[in-house]
Amino acid sequence: MKNIPYGRQSIDADDISAVSEALQSDFLTTGPRVAEFEKSLCSFTGASHAIAVNSGTSALDIAVGALGFPAGSEIITTPFTFAASANCALYNGCKPVFADINPHTLNIDPAQVEKKITKKTKAIVCVDYAGQPCQMGELSELAKKHGLVLIEDAAHSLGAKYNGKKVGTLADLTTFSFHPVKHITTGEGGAVATQDEGLAAKLRMLRNHGIDKAPSERQGYLYDMKMLGKNYRITDFQCALGVSQMKKLPQFLSRRREIAKLYEKELSSAGGVSTPTVLPNVLHAYHLFPVLLDEPKIRDRVFESMRKKGIGVNVHYIPVYKFSYYQKLGYADLQCRSAESAYARLLTLPMHFGITAQDVHHICKCLIESF
Ligand SMILES: *Cc1c(COP(=O)(O)O)cnc(C)c1O
Repeated sequence: MKNIPYGRQSIDADDISAVSEALQSDFLTTGPRVAEFEKSLCSFTGASHAIAVNSGTSALDIAVGALGFPAGSEIITTPFTFAASANCALYNGCKPVFADINPHTLNIDPAQVEKKITKKTKAIVCVDYAGQPCQMGELSELAKKHGLVLIEDAAHSLGAKYNGKKVGTLADLTTFSFHPVKHITTGEGGAVATQDEGLAAKLRMLRNHGIDKAPSERQGYLYDMKMLGKNYRITDFQCALGVSQMKKLPQFLSRRREIAKLYEKELSSAGGVSTPTVLPNVLHAYHLFPVLLDEPKIRDRVFESMRKKGIGVNVHYIPVYKFSYYQKLGYADLQCRSAESAYARLLTLPMHFGITAQDVHHICKCLIESF
């Protein structure tokens, strides 16, 4: 029986020739394809500025870094995410504060966020879990009321919409990832989108050691290093792949939405399992397809039985504060009840461009049989 991975890239002959062309050009890095990729991200999302970097994690790091918060500042985020969403606070001398999720959508709950706001709070990093945008209206209002910066980790939600507006323009800063399991890929890669020109200039510097001018912008040899940046540059051959993949993004998104519909249909009549609530004012991008089992006791057994059948189910996510690094950092007593309950009952089913209707049927049949 064939193995069905939970996520994987979709690469065609056009992608390969785009990369091959870039490899034969004058620029392997910091060349025209980086700007071209950034432009295509801007025109797709409607963002004014996009800064492409070498990973989604780097994007989160410089998004927080560009804000220049004093050490010890607090950043509120969800525990129900990949570690990078919280680690970006630590990279910048800030403290991640976890606010629990809404048990139905599995996204951060604005009411829980408000409870965690203190005098030291500077920002909210919300995560569009599985591809469903957070309650951006409520979160923006909270941010405005308390003078906070809103950062949207949109690693799951490229192409999603909230109240008809595309992800990329909903927060002060939006970060994307182009890891192979995400909607489009550059191998490794990421980007930050913003409407703010000042922040965009800082993000460009932070990507390149904090240096103010790229070699192509210099008159002579002079340049200045104005901030402490890193080398988070992405290569031109990766951006060539990115540009080529962006052309297929609408097709990728509609396929993911079709697969989600097929799953919903197959599972709607099955007992013992439900899917997270999708709010009426969002358009989901379906990076993941999570299901919640009624009975947490059987989750691991179901996981094992599916894996044995070659179905690449996964669990997204172990609450971040459960990791030993965070436990030692002082989060040992923390309990986010909704996040822990979701973690105990959750399985993510395979979701990517290559999944067929027969795959969906087979996966759902195996899932129901394994109860
Ligand atoms: C994938 C992902 C990231 C990190 O992206 P990389 O490109 O792997 O560094 C950050 N946040 C979330 C929620 C992700 O899923």
